[in-house]
Amino acid sequence: MTGRRPVSIILSPFFRQSGAKGERELGLTGFTRREFLKRGAAGAGAFYVSSLGFDVAVAEATTIKQHLRIEGATVSHSVCPYCAVGCSLLAYTRKNANGSVELLQIEGNPDSPVNEGTLCPKGASAMELAISKRRFVSPLYRAPGADEWKQVSWDFVLDKVARLIKDARDRTFVTKDEDGNVVNRCEGIAFAGGAAFSNEEGYLTTKLMRGLGLVYLEQQARV
Ligand code: SF4
Repeated sequence: MTGRRPVSIILSPFFRQSGAKGERELGLTGFTRREFLKRGAAGAGAFYVSSLGFDVAVAEATTIKQHLRIEGATVSHSVCPYCAVGCSLLAYTRKNANGSVELLQIEGNPDSPVNEGTLCPKGASAMELAISKRRFVSPLYRAPGADEWKQVSWDFVLDKVARLIKDARDRTFVTKDEDGNVVNRCEGIAFAGGAAFSNEEGYLTTKLMRGLGLVYLEQQARV
């Protein structure tokens, strides 16, 4: 254990809220969490947190490596697309000599009062949405009775979805209820919006679905 002094502390009680941006101060030392991370936990080589299994020296090495990787990069603000919490993200990009833009890193925004720099495992994998080679980039279709998927065009899928919606709507459209009241509604289709919807997307899709007569509308943000 050369050069390291084991200590057992719980980190969170030592952070206290300070400032309009929700930055927290590390009560133990007086400097902020951001500074703590920025400095790579100055003197990290001198101790580590044994009870949490969190090796500050490793964190420091990772931080330094990331600093090099994102040096000179453009920082853009974004929002995690996965759920309604809406955690704030920072995306680091760099323009290459050939004009292409390379995504270098995505991380939680420490200035956000929503997530204060943290991300859950889903949000932490946000970069994979953009760069993972395992992502499907074109639609697959498995015909009824078929046992394998085949690659199809987006036009094929849009036509297919439109046809299925039309058929289901025609089949389940109700013009009058049991009491003879005119209702003109489609009871055979439900629609659920995702948390990644913008206000405008939510407005437009709601209009479209209401126009089709749908009454069962839901949004993940309400869940
Ligand atoms: S990081 Fe996790 S909690 Fe935050 S918005 Fe994304 S999925 Fe939701």
